[in-house]
Amino acid sequence: MPELPEVETIRRTLADKLIGQEIKGVELLAPKFIRYPAADEFRARVTGARIAGLERRGKYLLFELDTGDRMVVHLMMAGRLLYTPADAPLAKHTHVVFTLGNGDHLRYLDLRHFGGLRLLAPGEEEGSPPGLRRLGPEPLGEHFTPAYLRRAMAGKRGKIKSVLLDQRVIAGLGNIYADEALFLAGIHPERPADSLRPVEVRRLYQAIRQVLTESIEQGGTTFATYVDGEGKRGRFAALLRVYRRAAEACPRCGSPIERRVVGGRSSHFCPRCQKPGRRLPGRVSPRRRRP
Ligand SMILES: [Zn+2]
Repeated sequence: MPELPEVETIRRTLADKLIGQEIKGVELLAPKFIRYPAADEFRARVTGARIAGLERRGKYLLFELDTGDRMVVHLMMAGRLLYTPADAPLAKHTHVVFTLGNGDHLRYLDLRHFGGLRLLAPGEEEGSPPGLRRLGPEPLGEHFTPAYLRRAMAGKRGKIKSVLLDQRVIAGLGNIYADEALFLAGIHPERPADSLRPVEVRRLYQAIRQVLTESIEQGGTTFATYVDGEGKRGRFAALLRVYRRAAEACPRCGSPIERRVVGGRSSHFCPRCQKPGRRLPGRVSPRRRRP
């Protein structure tokens, strides 16, 4: 699934091409990908609107239209948004085609049928995906701080890996970057979230920002289907430290990377660099000294 760096890369590759352009027409080859409102209403309200902005929240792309409406796109497992000339051959799995003011196309493709488009009126809650309403802070934004992360982990007995994937805690992290961040921070994915010491929370905070920034610089990670708005693959897969590297040597200590299912998700970690650690009994130890 495209995670924050991939969706951000799509946003960056599309923004300059789209902002300011009018949507002259919408062709719904598979209307079911319009998740809200009805397909006819979607088409009527989008046609003639101008794209005033393109933002990202978590894994959602938000098209701000000059009508005040907002088009929300979630690519889920294998959705794509491609900017193409009008005469480019129509690829298989193309479901929605926007014709733009300059004649070019913005095409929505989906190879796995889980993603989709929504159109929300200003302030509208009803059609808004529940996941978007409850998103936690952007990990590269100013509201994500070590203090926030410490508060978010407090009282959470679940495994740290699962807590990192909870979009209500941090927006945009998925399986790849949770594994990479935990490795960088030296934290075992099965540690209870509330067992992390303050120094570990700070390391984890830094690690999350580092891996996301590195990946955006490389245009994201492509294993199978992800491409940016121009159809280009991401380059970060070659730089991943542990994700999908089971049995390969840990880049830090040389031990074989281990793969294990944690909270239903495949997790990759170094058993030597990321020790499980013991849960502290009860409350935080009273002997701990403040720095
Ligand atoms: Zn190691």
